[in-house]
Amino acid sequence: MFIPCHNLFQRELELLESRNLFRRQKVIFSSNNMLVEVDGREYINFSSNNYLGLAGSDILKKAASQALERYGVGSGASRLMSGTFSIHRELEEAISKFKKEEDAIIFTSGYMANIGVIPALVGRGDAVIVDRLNHASIIDGARMSQARIFVYPHCNTIALENVLKRTACFSKRLVVTDTLFSMDGDIAPLPQILELCEKYRSILMVDEAHATGIFGRRGSGLVEEFGLSGKIDVVMGTMSKALGTFGGYVAGSRIIIEYLRQRVRTFIYTTSLPLPLAASCIKAIEYIENNGEERESFWKRIEYVRSEFLKMGYDLLNSKSQIIPVVIGPVDKAMEIERYLFEQGIFALAIRPPTVPKDSSRFRITISSSHREEDIQKLLHVFREIKRRFF
Ligand SMILES: *Cc1c(COP(=O)(O)O)cnc(C)c1O
Repeated sequence: MFIPCHNLFQRELELLESRNLFRRQKVIFSSNNMLVEVDGREYINFSSNNYLGLAGSDILKKAASQALERYGVGSGASRLMSGTFSIHRELEEAISKFKKEEDAIIFTSGYMANIGVIPALVGRGDAVIVDRLNHASIIDGARMSQARIFVYPHCNTIALENVLKRTACFSKRLVVTDTLFSMDGDIAPLPQILELCEKYRSILMVDEAHATGIFGRRGSGLVEEFGLSGKIDVVMGTMSKALGTFGGYVAGSRIIIEYLRQRVRTFIYTTSLPLPLAASCIKAIEYIENNGEERESFWKRIEYVRSEFLKMGYDLLNSKSQIIPVVIGPVDKAMEIERYLFEQGIFALAIRPPTVPKDSSRFRITISSSHREEDIQKLLHVFREIKRRFF
């Protein structure tokens, strides 16, 4: 029977709608760091990864506009053609110093880094071993590599060791984990994972997307916080979160990075990062390295907010960071609460399956150092009220 494709996809859309899983974009008209305007009304944004408020900062605006004046918008070619500018190399140097690794390579996004780097490291006949809650870009990279994929339960090093024992027959194995998990806000047991990788001779790659700029004495991430700089084979991250700009990177040994330059398809076959972005990334790193005190007061804020939510009786999973998952459970209830939050002027989106497991729909509240104190108090007040009305 011939089914026109239009009908086929319309049915899929109706199905999503009927399960309350249809996603609508909230269109932001203007923004001033954590304040956003949607449909003529102002909201406090608690759904942004702009953790340090750098995205809207004068420092980055200035760096970007200077580079814009000097180079224009697009970079015009891929890195191995005429698309490598001195600013790209400067940024790669800044990242390798920041991360205390020998060298670094940048990509046009974190997603591009993960889907390019994993297939360059492993392929058919190899094994890639991932945490069940790793970011989608890691899973996609693993699939694209055509290596056999093994998934271990979230942060479970006993299960990881079992997988490593079972996969001894593979000549090459790659373990990949987020360091700070993007939906749960919890932290991978990196020292134990590294020890297992060394014991079973497996390559280790970590994704520092949400940890960079937040953790570590110099703000470079959880690898630094755990004292593991220089010990992990592949340290990946993005500049689109705390750094407030755009672009992905990998830092590591000279050899690994040179190998990636030769092999990663998402490095070779795409136009290089626009210079205004690259220039602002350099400034963002400089800012983070020089503003340790701001990070300290940010951490006090994170701990305060978390303890207030716990006092109210919310389940925050095992969150240890600026990402605070407030678990609601069923999708329908989460959607009702989402409407209430918006009525109250809080921009916080319900995170639903398939992004999170079934029946763990939640609000992924993210705290920024550029929220005003009154924004934080408003958030806590509204969630106190939610506890009374919806539970
Ligand atoms: C956001 C994110 C990415 C993708 O980074 P982009 O630069 O936004 O493409 C990769 N990994 C993790 C864990 C992320 O949270």
